[in-house]
Amino acid sequence: MADDSFDAIVVGAGPAGCSCAYTLAKEGKSVLLLERGNSAGAKNVSGGRLYTYALEMVEPGMYQRAPLQRKIVREQIMMLGSNTAMTVDYADYGFGENVPQSYSVVRASLDEWFASECESQGAMVASAQLVDDLVVEDGKIVGIKCGEDEILCSAKKQDCSPIRKATRSALV
Ligand SMILES: Cc1cc2nc3c(=O)[nH]c(=O)nc-3n(C[C@H](O)[C@H](O)[C@H](O)COP(=O)(O)OP(=O)(O)OC[C@H]3O[C@@H](n4cnc5c(N)ncnc54)[C@H](O)[C@@H]3O)c2cc1C
Repeated sequence: MADDSFDAIVVGAGPAGCSCAYTLAKEGKSVLLLERGNSAGAKNVSGGRLYTYALEMVEPGMYQRAPLQRKIVREQIMMLGSNTAMTVDYADYGFGENVPQSYSVVRASLDEWFASECESQGAMVASAQLVDDLVVEDGKIVGIKCGEDEILCSAKKQDCSPIRKATRSALV
């Protein structure tokens, strides 16, 4: 990063954080993406289905680069009573045509891939960085606290040396 400062600091490299960091970086903003896990996706426990429309909203065609597994073409909904169960089973192989509706995914792989996409757009990704608090001045959030470090957005135009310290693990 030329001047060691960031237009935006994004906390958490889940789908929301990565979408945000990717979009900002693609727009030419300097972005720092901080993730508490040892890698993006390391802390996630979500189930395994990705709806492609969400990635299509970030960038058309992006889902084709994602580490997807199988197209979902069958749905089963089970309604449970105290001693009974009724299942609605719906299969539609049209789900797989054109832009397939959804795929099975492993979130650890998906998030790691998404964070690397952010890096390919120029964002800096720093993992194993737990954001402890926000820095608030005059009612505005101007940065974050990470351990003993304070990282401020470039709008503050302050000494940004803590950024180097906080992102060391991502840089080496
Ligand atoms: C059991 C379960 C199953 C699910 N199954 C599905 C499914 O199959 N399909 C589907 O579409 N959705 C599913 N969901 C919903 C899906 O997981 C969420 O909608 C999605 O993960 C939200 O994305 P997010 O980026 O907002 O948050 P998260 O995915 O929770 O990402 C937040 C990230 O921020 C990091 N973080 C948090 N606090 C800090 C901090 N202080 N400092 C630094 N980093 C931090 C976390 O480590 C994490 O990586 C499921 C959810 C659960 C709980």
